[in-house]
Amino acid sequence: MKNFKKLIIITGPSGVGKGTVVKEILDNNSDIWLSISATTRKPRKGEKDGENYYFLTDESFKDMIDNKEFLEWAQFAGNYYGTPLATVNEKIEKGFIVLLEIEIEGAKQIKDKFPEALSIFLLPPSKEELEKRIRKRGTEKEEAINKRLNRANYEIASSNKFDFVLTNHDVDETVNRVLKIIKS
Ligand code: 5GP
Repeated sequence: MKNFKKLIIITGPSGVGKGTVVKEILDNNSDIWLSISATTRKPRKGEKDGENYYFLTDESFKDMIDNKEFLEWAQFAGNYYGTPLATVNEKIEKGFIVLLEIEIEGAKQIKDKFPEALSIFLLPPSKEELEKRIRKRGTEKEEAINKRLNRANYEIASSNKFDFVLTNHDVDETVNRVLKIIKS
């Protein structure tokens, strides 16, 4: 069994700013590696297979579940998302700190299986601000926005299950706080 002390989970509702915070961290820390997830969601404009996600069919995703190739997987807003296990193991063995940017059900699965992994939940300053951020991103249709907002209420209610809860008021401030937690 691997030791996942170097596994860091960043979770929180869609639109909270996980992606922006993670990008900022990666740009300035070559010892930290971000896992590329698999998903059955269709690529957004500009997203590339193998860079943003591995974009899979339902069938291929289910094959990977059957073959136990995921560290965790979950359904989110009508699509499947999962973390491929092999590369995470490989990067940890090479000494990298591995970041996962995932939704809350997957984060809980990892916490249950590997309590030594560190989990950070990002909260929005308010639900109104979260809605504003999702709409401003402009990547989802109305139905998908509503699914994400409904789910956010449930996700926020579970924030106390994680090791650290940070309110993402400002990206730079959140990045500094996350880095302090990771490096301590
Ligand atoms: P999006 O469709 O906006 O890219 O992602 C939707 C949600 O799925 C986000 O909260 C994102 O963090 C989460 N997500 C991305 N990859 C994974 C994964 O591998 N596993 C799980 N459980 N969630 C993921």
